[in-house]
Amino acid sequence: MRKLSEITDAVLTYHPTADLDVIFNAYMFSAKAHRGQSRDSGEAYLSHPVEVAFNLTRLKMDERTIAAGLLHDTIEDTLTTSDEIQNVFGEEVYHLVEGVTKIGQMPFASKEEKQAENYRKMVLAMAQDIRVVMIKLADRAHNLKTLDSLPEEKQKRIARETLDIYAPMANRLGIGWLKTELEDGSFKYLHPGPYRTLLKKVEQVESERGLYVEECCRALDRELKSSGIAGKVMGRPKHFYSIYQKMIVQDLPFDELYDLVGLRVIVESEQSCYAVLGVVHSLWRPIPGKFKDYIAMPKPNRYQSLHTTVSGPRGQRVEVQIRTAEMHRVAEQGIAAHWQYKEDGNSSVKHLNDHLDWVRTMMEEQKEIKNAKDFLASFKVDLYFQEVFVFTPQGEVVAMPRGATPIDLAYNIHTDIGHHCIAAKVNGKLVSLRYKLKNGDQVEVVTDDQKFPSREWLPLVKTSKARNKISNYLNHRERERSRILGTELLENMIRKTGLEPQEVLQGPALDEAIHSCGFNNYDNLLMSVGYGKTSARRVLEKLVPREKIPAARHDELAEKTSPGSPGSPIRVKDFEDELLIRMGKCCNPIPGDSITGYITRGRGISVHHSQCPSVTGLVNESERLLEVEWDPPSEASFPTRVSIVTVEKQGQLAKISQGLAECEVNITRANVRLSGFKRAYFDLTIEIHDLSHLEKTFQRLKQIDGVLHVERVQEFGKKKPSLKGDAWEGTGGPEPSEEEPERVSS
Ligand code: MN
Repeated sequence: MRKLSEITDAVLTYHPTADLDVIFNAYMFSAKAHRGQSRDSGEAYLSHPVEVAFNLTRLKMDERTIAAGLLHDTIEDTLTTSDEIQNVFGEEVYHLVEGVTKIGQMPFASKEEKQAENYRKMVLAMAQDIRVVMIKLADRAHNLKTLDSLPEEKQKRIARETLDIYAPMANRLGIGWLKTELEDGSFKYLHPGPYRTLLKKVEQVESERGLYVEECCRALDRELKSSGIAGKVMGRPKHFYSIYQKMIVQDLPFDELYDLVGLRVIVESEQSCYAVLGVVHSLWRPIPGKFKDYIAMPKPNRYQSLHTTVSGPRGQRVEVQIRTAEMHRVAEQGIAAHWQYKEDGNSSVKHLNDHLDWVRTMMEEQKEIKNAKDFLASFKVDLYFQEVFVFTPQGEVVAMPRGATPIDLAYNIHTDIGHHCIAAKVNGKLVSLRYKLKNGDQVEVVTDDQKFPSREWLPLVKTSKARNKISNYLNHRERERSRILGTELLENMIRKTGLEPQEVLQGPALDEAIHSCGFNNYDNLLMSVGYGKTSARRVLEKLVPREKIPAARHDELAEKTSPGSPGSPIRVKDFEDELLIRMGKCCNPIPGDSITGYITRGRGISVHHSQCPSVTGLVNESERLLEVEWDPPSEASFPTRVSIVTVEKQGQLAKISQGLAECEVNITRANVRLSGFKRAYFDLTIEIHDLSHLEKTFQRLKQIDGVLHVERVQEFGKKKPSLKGDAWEGTGGPEPSEEEPERVSS
C-alpha cells in the first residue's frame, strides 16, 4: 500500500506551505474508521482512500481536499457520522465529504446521451464546489483500476457510467491524462473483445512502428536544429479508446488508422509553434484540410496546440501536435494548471472556487470562447441558475426551468399524468403541487383519475408545454360546458311553448335556424347559446313560428327571466342570458361562502357551497360545473339553519329572539327540544344577508346568558345528486317545513 509520505511529499512539490496536519489526521481517522474492512480484491480498504488522495495530488488539490479524499467513504461505508467529520475536521472538509457522498447516492439509469449531459450538469450543480467533482473523479479513476474482482455486470455498469459521465467531465475540465485514464480503463471492461484485439494489433506493429516513429523524430529534429529552433520532438502515447472510436466512427480498419503515428513537438514560445509548423510542412507534404489552429482558437476547455497531418516517410500519414510547454501543461492538467497556491493557506481555497464559474463555462461543450474575458464576466452568476435537475422514479434525470412545480414534471412525462396529477412525493415525502423542484430531488407524481386540471394551475407552471396542455384542456372543457348549457337553455325554452324539444329539433327548421343565426353547425350554435352570445329566445323564434305556439303560452315566453335582472343573488360568469338559478338546499350557501354552479338536466343551474359533495362528487362531469359569483341585491337574505344549545331555563327562547331581532334577523322556522340533562336544543332557520352578518349574529347569541354552543347547520351531501336535476332538491336536511319555500331566483 502507498505510504502517507508519498502523498505529503507530492503536495509539497506544488504547495510548499500546505498544512500537512489535516492530511495526517484524516489518514489516521480513515484508517481507524475502515479498520477491519477490505476491498473486493482482498486488499485493506484503506488502500482505496489513500490512492484517491494520491490521485488528488496529481490534480494539484489543496490539503483539505486531500483530507476529504482520505475520508470520502467514511460516512457512506463506516459507522462514522456526519457530525463527527464536522466536529473533527470542520465545516469545509465536511462539506466536501458530504458532497461526494451525495453524488455517490444519486441513481443513474439511462444510457442516452441527453441523459448523460443532464446528469453531468446535475453533478456539477449539486457539487457546488469544484473540489467535490475532483474527489469524485479521483475516486472513479481508482475504482476503475480495481474492477477485476467484481462480477462482470457490475464492471460493465461502472465502466459505462464512467464513459458517459466522468470521462467527459475530465475532458471538459481539460485534464488530459485523467480523461485518457478513465476512457481506456472503461473501454477495457465495456468492450473486452475489441480491446484485446486492439491491444494485440498494437503490440504486433509496435516494434516496426517504434522504428518508424524514431525515424520521423530524428528527421524532424535535424530540420529544427538547422533552422535554429529549440524544441523537443517525441512520439505520442497511444490512447486505445480514441483509436477504437475512430475505427467505429470513421468505419476504418485498424491498418488504415493513420494517426496511430503521432508526433509531438514542444517549444518555448508561441511564435516557435508556427515556425515549427513551417518546418514540418516543408519537410513532409501536408494533407489538405487537416490543419487546425487551436492556438488562435482555443477549445472551450482552454486546450491550445497546432495540429497537422502530413504524409511522412514512405507516404505514411503522421499527425503532428505542436505546442509550448505551458500549453502542454494546460492540456494535461486542465483546470489544475490554473490554480496557484499562495503563501497564506486560506486564500488557496477561495482561489479554487473563483474557478468555479469558469469551470461551468467549460462544461458547456457547445460554447466557443471568443473573448475569454467577456465570456467569464457574463457567466459570473451560476450558469445553471435557470435550471434544476430532478430524478424520475426510473432514475432518469430531467432538466426543468427553475421554479418549476410537480405539474410541469407531470406534463413532461405524459399529458395524462399532467391532467390527473394531485400531488407529488419528493424524496419520499408528500408535497403539494405548489412545491418548487430542487436539484437532485427524486420526484414521483401522484395522480388521481377523478381529478382534472384547474385554472389555478396556470400561475404555478413554468414550462410552456404544461401551460399549453392546461389551457387546451380548460378551453375544451369550457366549450363542452357551453354546449351542454346551450342545449339545456334551448330545450327549456322550447318546453315553455308546450312543444316537445325532440320533435322541434328534429324538424327541417333546425338547419335553417342554424344558418339564419349565423352558424354552420348545431354544436357551434349551442355553444354560442351556452356562452350567452346568442339568446335561446332568438333561436326559438327561428325554429318555431309564433303562430304555431298556443296563445296561452305567449305570456310565459315573454316573461324575462335573466340572472342580470334585479333580484338574483348570483351572477354566472360571462353570461347575460336567461338562466334558471336555484340555491342548493342541502348546503344553503349564503353570500361570502365559496360557491359552484351545476348545470342540471333540464332544470337550470343549482348553486352549491364549493365543498358540498353535491358538486365535489361530480368530477366525472366537470364540464357541468360552472363558475358563479355572488351578486346579491342589498336587501336580499338567505335561509340559514342554525343549531343552538342552551342551559334549560325559562325565557331562553325569548332571549334568543331578542338577540336575533337586535341583529335584524328574522326567524322563519323554530324547533325546540329539551334533553334530560337540563339542556335545550334550538333548531332554527333564520334569514341572513351574508357570512359577516352571520358571524355578527353568532357573536351576539354567544353573549346570551345560558347559551353554550352556536353552530351553522349545513347538510353537506346527504345524498348524491342524480342527473335528473334534483341535485338541489330534497336534500335539505330532515323535514324541510312546508312554509319554507324553495328558493328560486329566476
Ligand atoms: Mn470511493
